[in-house]
Amino acid sequence: MPAEAIPAFQDNYLWLLSSRGKGVLVDPGDAGPVMEALESRQLELSTILITHHHADHIGGVAELRSAWPNVQVFGPEDPRIPADFRVSEGMTVSLEALGLGTFEVLEVPGHTRSHIAYYGGGDLYCGDTVFVCGCGRLFEGTPEQMHSSLSKIRRLPEETRVYCAHEYTLDNVEFALWVEPDNEDLKSYQAEAMTMREAGTPTVPSTLGLEKKCNPFLRFDAPAVVMAAQRRLDRTDLAEYEVFGEIRRWKDTEFD
Ligand code: ZN
Ligand code: FE
Repeated sequence: MPAEAIPAFQDNYLWLLSSRGKGVLVDPGDAGPVMEALESRQLELSTILITHHHADHIGGVAELRSAWPNVQVFGPEDPRIPADFRVSEGMTVSLEALGLGTFEVLEVPGHTRSHIAYYGGGDLYCGDTVFVCGCGRLFEGTPEQMHSSLSKIRRLPEETRVYCAHEYTLDNVEFALWVEPDNEDLKSYQAEAMTMREAGTPTVPSTLGLEKKCNPFLRFDAPAVVMAAQRRLDRTDLAEYEVFGEIRRWKDTEFD
């Protein structure tokens, strides 16, 4: 079920799923634009799915609750998140009553310690864990944790649609080309993404297949990415999480 991107703030996408007159929101950081979207489509808000506690993902929840007192809010075990239902790895969120299927909860710590993702119907709502050709900063997690979260995501089917929460794609691709200047898939994707952005089209969702070919943060075992990390650290015996960690540090310290 394709979701609709509701742009908010500078570069956030708030995701709206709808069916049978009901709306489901993922990470409504701002109530204004989603209330407008719900009203113009004459949707009743039924469910909110939260991935992590940052303000640009939960900021609209209180206002949405006062407008739709029956809304059910799902989120991870974390007192910083105003959820009615706490979900963790292996649990599911059923939206069957709306005809929107069932979502599995994946714990993906790294960007924050309690970050989760929702996976169902071939769609992955991953918040700030994976971005198109990038990944979230490690605010509360270690490279080991994020490597294991990204490995978990990488095991999903190639055709999985990756719904991340920000439009960071062109910058991410620019950095990805620092890491892998000879990656032909990445070069042709860059041209494609530029065309999309010039037309004002979101580059999200991407697919996991594309990310596996182009995203350096999911390519911690690709020879060119491993060699880039080896050169920077002047070491050859790197574990995958160390490759990942060095690429992340490189972007944090020299690119952003
Ligand atoms: Zn965040
Ligand atoms: Fe965010």
